Amino acid sequence: MLTRELKMQVQRQLKRDLAKANAYFQKTFTPPKINYAVRGQKAGVAYLQQNEVRFNPVLLTENAAEFIQQVVPHELAHILVYQQFGRVQPHGKEWQMMMETVLGVPAETYHCFDVSSVVGKQYAYRCACQTHQLTQRRHNGVLAGKRYLCRRCKAPLQAV
Ligand SMILES: [Zn+2]
Ligand SMILES: [Zn+2]
Repeated sequence: MLTRELKMQVQRQLKRDLAKANAYFQKTFTPPKINYAVRGQKAGVAYLQQNEVRFNPVLLTENAAEFIQQVVPHELAHILVYQQFGRVQPHGKEWQMMMETVLGVPAETYHCFDVSSVVGKQYAYRCACQTHQLTQRRHNGVLAGKRYLCRRCKAPLQAV
């Protein structure tokens, strides 16, 4: 369960990072709206045009310290880059500069949290050479008539 205290810690980190960006660029960035609607393995998503950042409440709760140090500035940096430079490469040189020079954090693009509690149910399928674990979404695709081929042996996957 995501606590109020954790949400406040996220807000404090955002405020600190925004203050750094405001001081560096000598302007006032518009703080993004925050919500906690991300599900699955993604830690956070930045919606640039809506000026909104969404975080994953489960990964935040399970990895509070690293999440606040890494994911919060990572997503905020996308928002800041968009306000400062417009639409550019998502993890390009502007974003890296925002992370490292302005916010003072390593420009990492992937989190390494344990996602075992957020991966959904998996479905075992077999081809001619191995067993595959399909996500609910792909499994639904198969039920709806989609066919998936094994990349290695090219045989169609069949439910075990
Ligand atoms: Zn990113
Ligand atoms: Zn195969």
